[in-house]
Parts: sequence; C-alpha cells; structure tokens
Amino acid sequence: MSNPGENPPDPLSTARAIFTHHERVFDNFRFVYPVLSRRAKGISLGVNLNPDKVCNFDCIYCQVDRTSPAETTFVETKKLFDELEIGLRMILSGDLYRSPKFRSTPKHLRRLNDIAFSGDGEPTTYRNFDEIIAACAEIKRRHWLDDVKMVLITNASMFHREHVERGLKILDQNNGEIWAKLEAGTEEYFKLIDRTTIPFQQILDNITAAARIRPLVIQALFMRVNNEPPSHAELEAFCDRLNEIKAARGLLKLVQVYTIARKPTESYVTPLADEEVNAIAELIKSRTKLPTDVFYGTTDY
Ligand code: SF4
Repeated sequence: MSNPGENPPDPLSTARAIFTHHERVFDNFRFVYPVLSRRAKGISLGVNLNPDKVCNFDCIYCQVDRTSPAETTFVETKKLFDELEIGLRMILSGDLYRSPKFRSTPKHLRRLNDIAFSGDGEPTTYRNFDEIIAACAEIKRRHWLDDVKMVLITNASMFHREHVERGLKILDQNNGEIWAKLEAGTEEYFKLIDRTTIPFQQILDNITAAARIRPLVIQALFMRVNNEPPSHAELEAFCDRLNEIKAARGLLKLVQVYTIARKPTESYVTPLADEEVNAIAELIKSRTKLPTDVFYGTTDY
C-alpha cells in the first residue's frame, strides 16, 4: 500500500521486481528453491543439479554469479530429496505464501506449475541424470501431483548421451516438458552469446533428434550486446534453423522469446525494449508459423 501523497506502485514494475528474485537458496535449502516464475506463470520448484556452478556453456547473459566460490560442490541426493518433499509440502499447504519472500505473490499465481531442473549450470551434465529424474518423479507421484509438470531447462548439449536420453524418456512419462535453449542462427553468433567449444551443429542435431520424439519448447533469449540488438540477418537465420528442425519432422510447440531480466555476467549485455521483443516474436511467427510467447526485460536487478 502507498502512503498518502505517494504514487501507487506500478503493477508491472512490482511484478517485474518479484520475478527477478530467483535466488537459489530458500532458508537453509541447498538444492531446491521455489521461485515465482514468469515463464511458468506460477510457482516453479527448482532443483539445482549443479551446485558447483560448473557449466559447459559460458553465456554472456548468465545470471549465475561465478565470481564467488560455490558453497556446495556436489549433490547430496538424500538432502535434495528431503528438500523436495518439504518444498512440495510448503507450497501445497500454503505455508510458502506466509514467508516474507512470497507474501506478495498475486493470488492467481499461487499455483505450483512445475518442478524445474535447472540451477547453476547445465542439468544434463549431472552424472546420474536419469536416476535423479526417476527419483524426483516418484516423489511427485507420491504427492498425487500428476498435473504438475517436470520441466527440464537445458542447453541441449548432452541429449545424445545414453543416460540423458533415458532421463528424457522418464520425463515424458511424468508430464515432462523440455525447454531447450536456442538463441542463434549462425555458428558465429552462437559462439558470441553462448561461449562454448561445443559445435552449434551438435546443439541443432540434438534438438532435432529430441523434437522427433516429443514436442519441445524453445527458449530464445535475445539481448543487446554492446548496445547492438541481433541483426536482421541473424534473426532470419534463427528462423531458418527452426524451419529446418520442423522439416526434419521435429515438433516444436512454443518459442519463448525473452530478454534480460536478471543481472547478466557481462556488463555490456542489456535488455531489448518491449517493442523489440514483440517484433522478434512477430518475425518468428510469420517465418515459421510457430506459436510464440514473449517475456519483457528489466534493468531493475
Ligand atoms: S547454459 Fe545456462 S547456466 Fe550455463 S552458462 Fe548458459 S545460462 Fe548459465
């Protein structure tokens, strides 16, 4: 509530401020963290499989703070499962919304949308990926949460590994959804943004192969780099890559177009304006006929 004489809070900036609170630590939890997620349109219970902050990409916009050392370097599975149990109970009982951090969650967003595997690195690099997915699915089942999704937020770099493929199939059987990162149309731009030694073609092949088995969500983050938005040629190439996946019988159910909303690794990375995000989504829609969802940025981090 605002004081007399003050302007009332702008609901859009309030929502954007809430959505920037993606800290991975909830009280004394180390591996599980509830967040109010704008892309999930509700509460997403995150599971961090990379507490050591190691990733096989080094994205220029990554929000993981790698300037400070990791407090936890390996996954203690027993603690992770306990935290998942407690986290689910807190959300289902409504206790979560009595905590200071979630007290201001709008009523319509007080719903558990998913258990999301993401965290401080690429989740599919976790050695026993299939086993941990199976164990978390079992916990979800025990709580009768068939409607709650299991979302894998991934850079798609490890889909070709056998145990990861097995993990993806377990997700399929448990209301899973794969959000695969793709935000370049050319090798050059991919290397500029994602800074990895993994070839762009490997990512495209992995996304195509996975999308031939189940429909994927593409997460595409576009930004200004040294104040330059992605060029029209790059965006056209991005649409070409999506069309190639479709032509290879890959199923894509949604392209999430978003921009910077949390403090990026590199200070030369800044968000696009809302109109620029809209224009990119329109281009993708008209060039690929795929549905898009847009999420705007903020520098309020
Ligand atoms: S893949 Fe994800 S965790 Fe890894 S550097 Fe990129 S944004 Fe960060």
